[in-house]
Amino acid sequence: MHIQPIFENKKRPILIAGPCSAETEEQVMETAALLAAEGGVDAFRAGIWKPRTRPGMFEGVGAPGLKWMQQVRQEYGFKITTEVANHAQVFDALKANVDILWIGARTTVNPFSVQEVADALKGVDIPVMIKNPINPDLELWIGAIERLYNAGITRIAAIHRGFSSHQKTEYRNQPMWEMPIELMRRFPDLQMINDPSHICGNRHMLSSVAQKAMDLNFDGVIMETHRDPDNAWSDAKQQVVPARLLEIIHELVVRDEKTNDAIVLQTLETLRGKINEMDSDLLQLLGNRMKISEQIGIFKRDNKISIYQQSRWAEILEKAVNEGTKQGLSEGFIASVLSAIHQESINHQAKVMNENLVEN
Ligand code: PEP
Ligand code: MN
Repeated sequence: MHIQPIFENKKRPILIAGPCSAETEEQVMETAALLAAEGGVDAFRAGIWKPRTRPGMFEGVGAPGLKWMQQVRQEYGFKITTEVANHAQVFDALKANVDILWIGARTTVNPFSVQEVADALKGVDIPVMIKNPINPDLELWIGAIERLYNAGITRIAAIHRGFSSHQKTEYRNQPMWEMPIELMRRFPDLQMINDPSHICGNRHMLSSVAQKAMDLNFDGVIMETHRDPDNAWSDAKQQVVPARLLEIIHELVVRDEKTNDAIVLQTLETLRGKINEMDSDLLQLLGNRMKISEQIGIFKRDNKISIYQQSRWAEILEKAVNEGTKQGLSEGFIASVLSAIHQESINHQAKVMNENLVEN
């Protein structure tokens, strides 16, 4: 795959900003004017067709709103971008010469819909940004990228907007940073845009999420902004006025991924050497731990004891959390490392316990 960048300039972060939804001509034009006054925007976003969870909510103004976006482009020189989810919407967006399309999270989950959009774009040279699916399934995200690429779209970017969860957490959508990181590893040429607005669902966490994206070498951010956020017709809680948005962007610390400074490189190398040694020690320790587990497995087998004892696992976990938190490790991290080790232990014990069941 030869994915091309959507945004050619080397500026970081690339900034896409605009309201969640286009509501009225005045709201779109005024929001764009306020953004233009601040400067620094690469593309203007607005939802024309809105995928709402419940019927009866504001579902977007539809095709007439595209005219307002064209006016924004003409007046302020911004590229314009909107979400499309089906053939008819692609048709209208292309007719209005929208510069960049995006596929929303609720569409990426559905291969039928992604394919419909891809088919509608066959033979058209337009950049497309693909949001992660609402559930944390990297293959679905990749599948959408492939469907667009196979339709001849080469300028593709990914948007990380977080993943929904049945649990109430501080985020509207869990960032699960490991997902975009893995996508970037697999597709090094893919520009990665963070969407703090939909991850946070509030205003106060926007800057820390955007900063984290910069620290993970994301290329840009897409953020929702509104001339009057409290009275927005959709996603009111997470929108900020343009001046605040640009303030957040200006306060971001943008660091380089690499350096050529010899002293910095040497220090890094020394520290990384220490990490590598510790990783080797950890792996050796884990290997030794599994050998003991196997001895326990044989002992349990000979004494007809089952592998899993609820109370023992609870005891291991409690002890690890007590000790680990004193070392500055988070409870979530300790639990996930220990449960992976425990699972591996169970696998080793199961292997020795049932050895006689394996046929030669
Ligand atoms: C949006 O960008 O307004 C939107 C609907 O986002 P998502 O597809 O991420 O929910
Ligand atoms: Mn929104």
